[in-house]
Amino acid sequence: MSLKKKITDIRHTLAFRLTLWYAGIFMLSACLAFFFFYLLITSVIRQQTDQALFSEVRAFSSILSAQGPEAVKRQALLESQAAGEKKIFFRLLYITGEVFSSSNMSYWRDIGVSRAAVNRLLDSREPVFDTISVADRKHNVRVLYAVIGPGMILQLGQSMENHTRIIEVFRGVFITTMVILFALAVVVGWFMARRALVGVETVTRTARRISAGSLEERVPVKKQADEIDQLALTFNQMLDRIEQLVTGIKEMSDNIAHDLKSPITRIRGIAEVSMTADASLKDYESMAAGTIEECDRLLDMINTMLVISRTEAGVNQLECRQLDIAHLVRDACDIFQSAAEDKGLTLVCSADRNIGLYGDLRLIQRMVANLLDNAIKYTPAPGSVDVSVSAGADQSVAITVSDTGPGISARDREHIFERFYRCDPSRSQPGTGLGLSFARAVARAHNGKITVASVPGGGSTFTVTLPKNPPEVDFG
Ligand code: ADP
Repeated sequence: MSLKKKITDIRHTLAFRLTLWYAGIFMLSACLAFFFFYLLITSVIRQQTDQALFSEVRAFSSILSAQGPEAVKRQALLESQAAGEKKIFFRLLYITGEVFSSSNMSYWRDIGVSRAAVNRLLDSREPVFDTISVADRKHNVRVLYAVIGPGMILQLGQSMENHTRIIEVFRGVFITTMVILFALAVVVGWFMARRALVGVETVTRTARRISAGSLEERVPVKKQADEIDQLALTFNQMLDRIEQLVTGIKEMSDNIAHDLKSPITRIRGIAEVSMTADASLKDYESMAAGTIEECDRLLDMINTMLVISRTEAGVNQLECRQLDIAHLVRDACDIFQSAAEDKGLTLVCSADRNIGLYGDLRLIQRMVANLLDNAIKYTPAPGSVDVSVSAGADQSVAITVSDTGPGISARDREHIFERFYRCDPSRSQPGTGLGLSFARAVARAHNGKITVASVPGGGSTFTVTLPKNPPEVDFG
């Protein structure tokens, strides 16, 4: 990978963007802190300068009142020489603004007497401060005008050299600190972002391996219960579910292939015999009947699969109306009565009281028929099948079909509602393995459920619980 491509890739990473944000916010905060610090320092220095100028004014004022203007003049000369003539200057002014006397002004000749400042002073009688910048000079000058006695104004100026120096030092410190802080912010930001995102990368790597074909892969969970762990857990749960579904689909397609194979093989066998054997018309008729029967079985299976899929698509697929479920069950028992008797079984129906239910008549009829058919099919004679309908207190209806048949093992009970699942002992009986999955799809579409209680060797009881008025929710 070329360097340019690598840099472009890094620029698009979340870690890069997080680092930028982190460094940006960090630098902005540092700048703000420096700015306020700068304001504070400059204001403190200016206050100190003003304070110093002000105490000079007081001193000069006392000298004037005690010793007169000549003494002030002498003191001004002495003080400017002592402090340095480039640091401080004094001008004694008449109230008119004319100069009475001054310290050596050769260095300060550019600074005159501001008429505006004198007027302001005379108006307010309060000392007037002014900051003057002189062309070609590095340092500004702080100037104070104050009345120090009757008819006498003092103009006092001080170079703000200290001020400028401190600001220069401050600027140096600021730039160095900012460079160091920026480097630090980038390194720390990058490190933190990488650390935070390492979990996301693990999830991505796992997802890549999965898309390459290994559905058993899982993201390692660090058990820190942080957001990354939550993501890993959710991702793993999703994978479990996908794996489960894929396995289910695989098993189902295996089952479909297996279950479709037998009738097709039989049809093919009949066809082969019809071509080779020297058969009579009667034999051909019986072969054609056999073919029709196998085709019907196949069609029945395919239709049932379609109905299950449609029913599982949700409550919107139902054609619901108000029906009497007890009446429906009684009718079903009447239909199966002769089959039960033929097999030597007793079929007892306890559904005397009429019970209303809002549901799809055809689907519920077929569901009840499947349960009855199973009970009669799998219960050996002599035995009995009991069917009952009862209304629960919670606006639900329970349809129960119990038999004294062979029962269903715990392992089989987990699978009997899956499509095409048939328990091993039942394989000798005719069937498609779709009856119970159809019953479950119908119960769920009505927002109800189907359960089984069974003791191997002690019979089975299937219970369908349906709400009397299914709410209009989608089947999940
Ligand atoms: P099938 O067409 O095989 O009856 P079902 O989906 O209706 O398909 O039932 C699935 C399996 O559950 C059956 O093959 C059978 O092994 C078992 N089963 C269903 N009902 C009973 C029952 N009343 N007694 C014992 N086993 C049952």
